[in-house]
Amino acid sequence: MWLPMLLLAAVCVGFASCGDDDDNEIVNPIPGLPDTGNMAYKTCPNTQHPHWIDLGLPSGTLWRCCNLGASKPEDNGNLYRFGQASSAPTYDQMVELFDKCRYEYVNQSNVDGGRFTGPNGGKIFLPSNVFSRSSTRFWSSTPYDARDAYALSVGLGAAYYGVDWYERTEEFYVRPVRKK
Ligand SMILES: [Zn+2]
Repeated sequence: MWLPMLLLAAVCVGFASCGDDDDNEIVNPIPGLPDTGNMAYKTCPNTQHPHWIDLGLPSGTLWRCCNLGASKPEDNGNLYRFGQASSAPTYDQMVELFDKCRYEYVNQSNVDGGRFTGPNGGKIFLPSNVFSRSSTRFWSSTPYDARDAYALSVGLGAAYYGVDWYERTEEFYVRPVRKK
């Protein structure tokens, strides 16, 4: 436990607000880098989105609190074709999200969507407020075949969510990830 404590202490030097979020603050993936954008949390610590969320996943994957191009978790952000966003999760990272997290279809700040709660209690919310489809989809970075690629679906009801494949030319949202 000494190393994490030392790293946390080192990171806190120079951040006046650091003490406010000690319970929520998990790790700085790049120790010593003076950039609060690299900190990871279990839930958003403030409204200065986006944040990196640590769900306690075995792979060490951190998920963004909001979609690419969104300014808060409830916003859709921008639409992309497959391969246009390099920060999209792999198929394995999407499957891990479903396998290791508890899924609930909830209303958050008047927006319906899927909430994933990780093994450590960390939470992310994926908005599903596009009513022209049966579900809202998020591109992975993993091809299925020459024409299709994997994407994650969050349904408009409590029942459906999952990872499936779709034509690469479709425009879906992207929820960025990174490794710790
Ligand atoms: Zn956030």
